[in-house]
Amino acid sequence: MKRTGIFFLYLIGERLNDFPEELAGILDRTNISFYEAFYELTPTPEELLLKVHSPQMVDRVKQTLYYETALYSTGGTVQAAERIWRNEIGNAFVFTGTGDHHAGRDYFGGGCHFNGAALAIAKLRGEFGARRFAILDTDSHHGDGTRDIFKDDEDVLHVCLCSQNLDDSTNVDIAIPYSITDEQYLGILEAEFTPRIADFKPEIIFWEFGYDATSGDYGSKGLSLDCHTEIARIVSRAADSVCQGRMIAILCGGSRRDIARYCIPRIINCLAE
Ligand SMILES: [Zn+2]
Ligand SMILES: [Zn+2]
Repeated sequence: MKRTGIFFLYLIGERLNDFPEELAGILDRTNISFYEAFYELTPTPEELLLKVHSPQMVDRVKQTLYYETALYSTGGTVQAAERIWRNEIGNAFVFTGTGDHHAGRDYFGGGCHFNGAALAIAKLRGEFGARRFAILDTDSHHGDGTRDIFKDDEDVLHVCLCSQNLDDSTNVDIAIPYSITDEQYLGILEAEFTPRIADFKPEIIFWEFGYDATSGDYGSKGLSLDCHTEIARIVSRAADSVCQGRMIAILCGGSRRDIARYCIPRIINCLAE
């Protein structure tokens, strides 16, 4: 059984209105820790933001309505990484109100304001001496912001399942056709992600979990509801085999409340197995 941290904030929009209530049975378990914004969960400090994003961009985000949400959303990922390194938890699920993967060094958009995975990596490098990292992106869309930040960084493997193909050392994109079956999707993931992780040997895996590729959501590729739990299982197994199970699932795209309600508790159960 793993110790799983859940990082939660209330500034997260309509799609997550059923939470944290939907986690009722999960939160009682002794191997689950719940960290809530304004209490245990603290915002990302500006000093850390500036290690990833330009000062001009930070100023621009400050002028949006989402600044505080972005600070707590990324704060969850940063703190999850820190607590994993301190051995307080083994893995984590991070609720977010703004996503990561369209936030680059000097630009943001598409519901993403700051890049939480990148900020966590900056924190782990700066304070804990961690060196190698992997980011898997299963949101329906290309993780352009994450790619912008890490494209020349040979210590960060970025595997992105989107709509284009690229195989350039640590920068990997795999085009996922529309109306793919779960079996085909999971087969691609096992073939393209698992061996790369085994070769690269990251010290932690960040999983940008977008559910917008689910059938009926805005980035639909035809995935079923259960496909996301299977993805979680593959990522978790990969983490077990190379980095003592260290992984952080970060909520990314997806709009439907019913899909969130179905998938998120199951993913957390999988992480906590
Ligand atoms: Zn998306
Ligand atoms: Zn991509």
